Amino acid sequence: MLTVDEALQIVCERVEPLEPAKRYLLDAQGLLLAQSIVSPLNSPPFDKACMDGYAVRSSDFVGAKPVLKLKGEITAGHVSTLIVEAGETIRIMTGAPLPQGADAVVQHELTELNEADETVAFKIEDIRANLNVIGCGDIMREGDIVFVERTRLRPQELGVLAEMGFATLSVYPRPRVAVLATGDELVPVEETPGPGQIRNTNEIMLVEQIRQAGAIPVPLGIARDNREDLQSKIEVGLQHDMLILSGGVSAGKLDLVPSVLESLAVGEIFHRIQMKPGKPVWFGQRAPQDASSTKTVFGLPGNPVSSMVCFEIFVKTALRRMMGNEVANSVPEKVCAKLTEDHLHKGDRPTFWPVKFELVEGEARVKPLEWRGSSDLRGTMRADGMALFSKPDFVYKAGFVINYFPWK
Ligand code: AMP
Ligand code: MG
Repeated sequence: MLTVDEALQIVCERVEPLEPAKRYLLDAQGLLLAQSIVSPLNSPPFDKACMDGYAVRSSDFVGAKPVLKLKGEITAGHVSTLIVEAGETIRIMTGAPLPQGADAVVQHELTELNEADETVAFKIEDIRANLNVIGCGDIMREGDIVFVERTRLRPQELGVLAEMGFATLSVYPRPRVAVLATGDELVPVEETPGPGQIRNTNEIMLVEQIRQAGAIPVPLGIARDNREDLQSKIEVGLQHDMLILSGGVSAGKLDLVPSVLESLAVGEIFHRIQMKPGKPVWFGQRAPQDASSTKTVFGLPGNPVSSMVCFEIFVKTALRRMMGNEVANSVPEKVCAKLTEDHLHKGDRPTFWPVKFELVEGEARVKPLEWRGSSDLRGTMRADGMALFSKPDFVYKAGFVINYFPWK
């Protein structure tokens, strides 16, 4: 059986970035650029006041706190035809272009306006040129390479792109991910379960995990545990970039998902990983057919925590790869943290255990929570992530430094 790290390496090798596509700036949050970008403009596009105050000539301030003649006013969004001559000043607001003749701005708080004779007295001397002025192109010059390919678009990057006038961009797009729950026992959330039935917990959970990963969820409802229903719904799922199934991958009589997938030409890459929860996880791909792209399929074990953990570890890694990330940025983030109390790890399967995370005087600490295993989704509600306990039959002592995987 593969280890988690071996399986992750396989996922990273097998899953490739989607074809770059044009997207609106408004839909590009969190995506990676698939192009580099050269600035078409200077920023700011003109010498700009960065304080409310008075536009002045620094030469009027040499060894003196001058009283200058007020000549007019400029506000942001307007260009003045007035020229500041020696002995003159113009009132200026933040964001307004510096008028001709002026080379500095003195902030409002250091001045006193005499309205009667329209003069301004300054309480400062020997100012430098460019005081409170951002020069044309100081922030960004036309021709600068401002973005390299694969830059992640956070709010500030989107703002810079907007400033440069890029309303659409070439990005690694959001994968469309179909979610199919399987099981004869499942009913939709709106329905009351009959004898032996339960509601479909996993669909909404996986849909939200997909959304958090930056991809587009496409819920397909429930497939029953028979070949015909599985086959027809899996075929619909395979029209998306990725298909995630929950349930039907263990060793039960009606765990038909792997064989139905094989019958639809989705080749198994791995099945079963040395981990808990999530051991029966299935991963496979279908080669491109016609003009379509490679389809990636995960069969997650149906127990809700197994589904959730396998998504966090394997599916998110695959989605990050599809969205253009290098391998190093695709594998799950882990943090070293100290155990706050003893924890007995039974058995020999590496176990992801729900923990509460805290920072105490700069030190990362995790507290293992009460949890009853892969069907205990409620037990994960107080958790911030999971700690990995991998030493077989071992008592981890408080203070032991362990790998912590945050859920985000
Ligand atoms: P399976 O992996 O199909 O053997 O299912 C394992 C366990 O998870 C069983 O107890 C199922 O009833 C439960 N289960 C499967 N799918 C779901 C689901 N979508 N929502 C909640 N529980 C599920
Ligand atoms: Mg089942």
